[in-house]
Amino acid sequence: MHQGTVGVERVNTRCCIVGGGPAGMMLAYLLARAGVDVLVLEKHADFLRDFRGDTIHPSTLELMYELRLLEEFLQRPHDEVRQLNGWIGESLLRLGDFTHLPTHCKFIAFMPQWDFLSFLAEQARRYRSFGLLMNTEATDLLVEDGLVTGVRAKSAQGQLEIRAGLTIAADGRHSVIRQKAGLEIIDLGAPMDVLWMRISRAESDASITLGRIDAGKFLVMLNRRTYWQCAFVIAKGSYEKLRASGLPAFRAHLAELAPFLRDRVEEIADWEQIKLLTVVVDRLKRWWRPGLLCIGDAAHAMSPVGGVGINLAIQDAVAAANILAGPLRTRAANDDELAGVQGRREFPTRATQRMQIAVQNNVIKRVLGSTHIKAPWILKLVDRWPLLQRIPARLIGMGFRPEHVKTPDAQSLR
Ligand SMILES: Cc1cc2nc3c(=O)[nH]c(=O)nc-3n(C[C@H](O)[C@H](O)[C@H](O)COP(=O)(O)OP(=O)(O)OC[C@H]3O[C@@H](n4cnc5c(N)ncnc54)[C@H](O)[C@@H]3O)c2cc1C
Repeated sequence: MHQGTVGVERVNTRCCIVGGGPAGMMLAYLLARAGVDVLVLEKHADFLRDFRGDTIHPSTLELMYELRLLEEFLQRPHDEVRQLNGWIGESLLRLGDFTHLPTHCKFIAFMPQWDFLSFLAEQARRYRSFGLLMNTEATDLLVEDGLVTGVRAKSAQGQLEIRAGLTIAADGRHSVIRQKAGLEIIDLGAPMDVLWMRISRAESDASITLGRIDAGKFLVMLNRRTYWQCAFVIAKGSYEKLRASGLPAFRAHLAELAPFLRDRVEEIADWEQIKLLTVVVDRLKRWWRPGLLCIGDAAHAMSPVGGVGINLAIQDAVAAANILAGPLRTRAANDDELAGVQGRREFPTRATQRMQIAVQNNVIKRVLGSTHIKAPWILKLVDRWPLLQRIPARLIGMGFRPEHVKTPDAQSLR
């Protein structure tokens, strides 16, 4: 780094990645491993963001295997879920079976995202060409004659100007970078938002992640050992109405869905303990412009339906590394290469979003508007026929067009 005019720090790098989420960290790791100079900016001081869900999919675990990291990774505390079960009204249904997937790990690993991201950061730090600036927020693009040449950013130490041969927007579903780039967004709509809160977990509670659906209500609970991370799904725009009906009424909804929490829902003593997460489903018409590429939620914000957004973000990162690492070792990426990444990832994105929208409209919208609930016949059929359970397992566990690591390990270790 060197100091420029009026106290602006100037930094040069081959590739600047904005956002240290799953997409940004995976791409940074792969590029650094391939010997490309890369710098990640993450606006938070740590990876302790708890709003992503905890799913590490079989396809991601397969990538870990290809990277020879699987054994070390699985030593971190995690739970392995081989079958997908959900309560719908009074019925407990089996909706997916991962044990037949053609992958080394035939399960979803549940691990808090901060453990996963810290693991990737640790691995990436072994390479000389990797840099990570925490507490550093990108605020604008640097543009010269229509070409994006980097970003402006602010940190506790002051202003920064990062010049890069390629800028990657991996800054999530409210991406500032894609907005500054003026890329056109196709909004696909979402009928729900999510209330996100913690309730303590007792040793005697079930250990698996639970999904519970009842008339007008929908709850997903992630086991984070000492507490349950609860996601309570509400109709979009209904938060104020729910708040007006008071905390006791809200706690009663929770207790109805998860009666074993009845003595603990009192822990929610203030609306401040409940975070409203707005669900967005959209995608960019064009994921790039000269000098800039968007990946992950910044290119296509995913619904929480199916818990597949993290998977898609990571698959984008692998595809981007496969296409761009070679050129980036010696030069900036050209337009054809950036378009190539969109070309590779557009079909899986569209197909996954189409599925999510179908579930949003045919299941979630109906559940939220219903006064009594019965499991749909199609889910009963899946529950009864183990062969059918392989289909959702494949779609969730591997997704469409799973990627494989094609980038080399350049061995330029610190
Ligand atoms: C309520 C909810 C629950 C979900 N549950 C699941 C689930 O269980 N499983 C699943 O697979 N998917 C889930 N999803 C979807 C999933 O969270 C996303 O698809 C996934 O996180 C996308 O990864 P990403 O790396 O593209 O973006 P993000 O995970 O959003 O990461 C973006 C990163 O960029 C940083 N950042 C943002 N702006 C800036 C800036 N200007 N400068 C620097 N840094 C910046 C952020 O701090 C963040 O770390 C859920 C989504 C929601 C809304």
